[in-house]
Amino acid sequence: MTDPPPPAPHAGLLEGLMREALREAARAGEEGEVPAGAVIARPDGLPVSRGRNRVVALSDPTAHAEILAIREACRLTGNYRLEGLILVSTLEPCAMCLSAALHARLRAVVFGAPEPKWGAAGSLMDISAVPGMNHRLEFLEGGVLAGECAGAIREFFRRRRKGEAPCAQGPQGGTR
Ligand SMILES: [Zn+2]
Repeated sequence: MTDPPPPAPHAGLLEGLMREALREAARAGEEGEVPAGAVIARPDGLPVSRGRNRVVALSDPTAHAEILAIREACRLTGNYRLEGLILVSTLEPCAMCLSAALHARLRAVVFGAPEPKWGAAGSLMDISAVPGMNHRLEFLEGGVLAGECAGAIREFFRRRRKGEAPCAQGPQGGTR
């Protein structure tokens, strides 16, 4: 007999992890990157790795918070699969990041604010719900501290328009 899976993390635990992800997002914003952050954690709430958006600093369009958190968790665990772990992201993951979460066999994905332009967890599409997909998330849930997560983005662009925010610029001056 196999052991039953550990219970799904409760709302308070997810909020605590989202606050960690928000701290990562704030660091990205201080560096002039669009403020997005992510944490990968065990179901009991112990964080394994963290990531923040660094596309400009690394000149890398794949350097989203979630991808960097997944890479770090794989490096630390010495495993290309992250079975049983949970990804918590301040923004709805894009198709690339949600696909990476599925490849990594993550247990669940939780996000804060919806992302109408890139979101692949329900806004534009739901990649995880494609029939026949090789891996199923146990749950995919948005709206955790959504107001704070969306507010961080809004405030970043408001300050940038006023010339107050640090502005990391690649050769094309793009951000994300
Ligand atoms: Zn992404």
